[in-house]
Amino acid sequence: MHLGQGTELELLRERVRDVASRYAPPRPGRTGVRAPEAADIPALREWTRLLFAEQLLGVNWPVEYGGLDDPHPLHESVVADELIRVGAPGPVGGGLLAAAAIIASGTTAQKEFFLPRIRSGEHIWCQLFSEPDAGSDLAGLRTRARVDGDHFVVDGQKVWTTNGQHADWGYLLARTDADAPKHAGITAFALDMSTPGVSVRPLREITGTSDFNEVFFDGVRIPAAHVIGEVNQGWAVTTASLAQERSSAGSGASLFGALDRLVRLAAQVTRAGRPVLERDDVRQAIGGFVADVHVNSLVSALGESRVLHASGDAGDAPVSKILFSEVNLALHEFGLQLQGHDGVRIEGDASVYDDGWWQDAFLYGRAFTIAGGTNEVLRNVIAERALGLPRG
Ligand SMILES: Cc1cc2nc3c(=O)[nH]c(=O)nc-3n(C[C@H](O)[C@H](O)[C@H](O)COP(=O)(O)OP(=O)(O)OC[C@H]3O[C@@H](n4cnc5c(N)ncnc54)[C@H](O)[C@@H]3O)c2cc1C
Repeated sequence: MHLGQGTELELLRERVRDVASRYAPPRPGRTGVRAPEAADIPALREWTRLLFAEQLLGVNWPVEYGGLDDPHPLHESVVADELIRVGAPGPVGGGLLAAAAIIASGTTAQKEFFLPRIRSGEHIWCQLFSEPDAGSDLAGLRTRARVDGDHFVVDGQKVWTTNGQHADWGYLLARTDADAPKHAGITAFALDMSTPGVSVRPLREITGTSDFNEVFFDGVRIPAAHVIGEVNQGWAVTTASLAQERSSAGSGASLFGALDRLVRLAAQVTRAGRPVLERDDVRQAIGGFVADVHVNSLVSALGESRVLHASGDAGDAPVSKILFSEVNLALHEFGLQLQGHDGVRIEGDASVYDDGWWQDAFLYGRAFTIAGGTNEVLRNVIAERALGLPRG
């Protein structure tokens, strides 16, 4: 039993476990929200199709596009949480986010074309929002789209595009009116990533992998029929779709697995011939992390319960996300510290602990404090929107 969740959701969790145990491709051994290898894409497309076909995903969509009549409000967050618990991957790419925008603001033709192809795994999407000088200040974006007959012509650059190297379509924000106040001159587009003039350049990260990309646009022509919502109303389109984007990270399902690994690690690492698990300071620290992980889980459950009872406020999601990302970072830093000099070994080195999982998790841990709004910006949200404090 999970706090605030009843039998219906317990049965759903069982169903996720069952489907995952029979059909899920293995989740890559790495932590976090990582882009897959090209060779894994066909299996992940098929897995995405199955998640929709089993009505584990897309349940909030209109019924004519495969949604349920009366879905439980926590259905999709429970599915995301349980997939992490059982070590199964989620759907590939950003199709759910793009679908939210298309459902809320798209034309009937867009819904009929895109939604079935997201469900079938045929279209992998990426999110083309952030730019080198527009991340937290997203409305400051400079990629331009100018009208040319029944097309828009796009020039500019995006960055941090997860899955950009695999995506068939991009959910793009571009400036269509340079003279309007910055939030008012932005338009949302569906961009076919194979259009001439789109170049995707993977970025190699400190973890050694390429999860993100730079994406360049050089005279890229997009049919006007692929504007999502109204021209110059892209900010409203994005705000509505982001509001529907539920992150499973905050539930902290992955932290329970990390705790198990931490205890195993402390039993393996030795000082003066004895496992460090026998040391008081190490046991104290592990006890502290156990408490933090449980508090995180309870705070997340409280947030969900407040959603269910329509009693939440603007601070709930930010509080959960800040708590999760900071406990996650501290736990992985501690795991690396425990290893002493051996902490500099990496995946593939002889006698590296847990095949380098800790090093990868440590290096990736910072990403959760940035993705989905940096923790500093989310603290501003709590201060201004939940507590009503004056803007800084
Ligand atoms: C794992 C991951 C996946 C991502 N995937 C995508 C993707 O698919 N598509 C996409 O478009 N983007 C993606 N991003 C980018 C992400 O949205 C941005 O990194 C994020 O919005 C922050 O922007 P920035 O990196 O430009 O940092 P900046 O906004 O430049 O911030 C730099 C620092 O200044 C601080 N700061 C900024 N403004 C304020 C303020 N008002 N008050 C206090 N402090 C402030 C920030 O907290 C941060 O510490 C991803 C990022 C990560 C980590």
